[in-house]
Amino acid sequence: MGYRDEVESAFTHNVKQNNPDYKPIAVILSYFCNDFSSTTNHMSLITVGTMAFDAIETPFGKVDQIVGGSATYVAYSASQFVSPINQISIIGYDFPSEELEAMKKRDIHMEGVEVVPDKKSFFWSGKYHLDMNSRDTLVTDLNVLADFNPVVPESYQSSEFLMLGNLMPKLQMSVIDQMKTRPKLIVMDTMNFWMDVAMDDLKEVLKKVDVLLVNDAEARQLSGEISLVKAARIIMDMGPAFLIIKKGEHGALLFHKNHVFFAPALPLEEVFDPTGAGDTFAGGFIGHIAKTKDISFENMKRAIIVGSALASFCVEKFGPERLKEISKADIDARIQEFVQLVNFDIDLG
Ligand code: AMP
Repeated sequence: MGYRDEVESAFTHNVKQNNPDYKPIAVILSYFCNDFSSTTNHMSLITVGTMAFDAIETPFGKVDQIVGGSATYVAYSASQFVSPINQISIIGYDFPSEELEAMKKRDIHMEGVEVVPDKKSFFWSGKYHLDMNSRDTLVTDLNVLADFNPVVPESYQSSEFLMLGNLMPKLQMSVIDQMKTRPKLIVMDTMNFWMDVAMDDLKEVLKKVDVLLVNDAEARQLSGEISLVKAARIIMDMGPAFLIIKKGEHGALLFHKNHVFFAPALPLEEVFDPTGAGDTFAGGFIGHIAKTKDISFENMKRAIIVGSALASFCVEKFGPERLKEISKADIDARIQEFVQLVNFDIDLG
């Protein structure tokens, strides 16, 4: 039982004894306690994935070693909205302590991050094509990831939301299985790499998640369908009730039953490095959902706009740097730009 639960339960118990009309007071207390949400697990989110080093080449430049990883981007993005973030990942001796400190300052908890003293962190290297929408993976060195067995710490158990960032499907499944209470919403990201090497495991996880995020090429690979509408139907039959198909600079589609919603990507003058944009999108999406605690289709529409806004910052600099600089005002202003982008009047009379 967390701090807030204890206070709430003691208070409610006392009030119940003396006042038959106790409910409204308990409700008032619950609002009051929300002010302390950063010290409790009540708005909390588990984020799972890689914390890594990347080497990236884009038409604008090249970096040989920069901090990356799916869970790094997800956590930096979601921490704009939710506190705490309960991180589950694995790092080697080489992962920079300054980065860990920067994450802790954002209330990203590290109890679920295993540190392996004699191995290197996961390493990924990619090269972008001229259009920046597609890339080739040059190297995937699993390193510490090869023997990773994620453990969900007891202190994470009451988390209401679970974001399974891009990771081996077996490990994503293990985290779901360890949750004593099923989270309100399980969102899963994955990539073509896991479809190539672990498709069966991936399909098992799909049966257990609520929302799947993939890009258009991955949706086609997973479903065997060219049409994204048909692909969406096939993928939703595999398990997830909601499907988000990301289309890079062409925005994202949200599918649910027979409904579909489209969110554009902001036309940017300069896209410097798209690495992590998908994870940042996922972090903004789940961050908004966890903050509002509303898992309706209508709120998911807002959440994909928030995800798109966060992703638009990510691409402005190499690595997660830009995500560390931005303020709430920057995010709000960018969300307004999205509203303007798709807002129009029409007279059909
Ligand atoms: P994104 O550009 O959103 O697809 O995410 C890129 C990030 O994902 C990089 O920082 C990589 O370290 C990480 N990454 C690349 N390949 C994998 C993989 N197979 N599993 C997990 N994370 C990966």
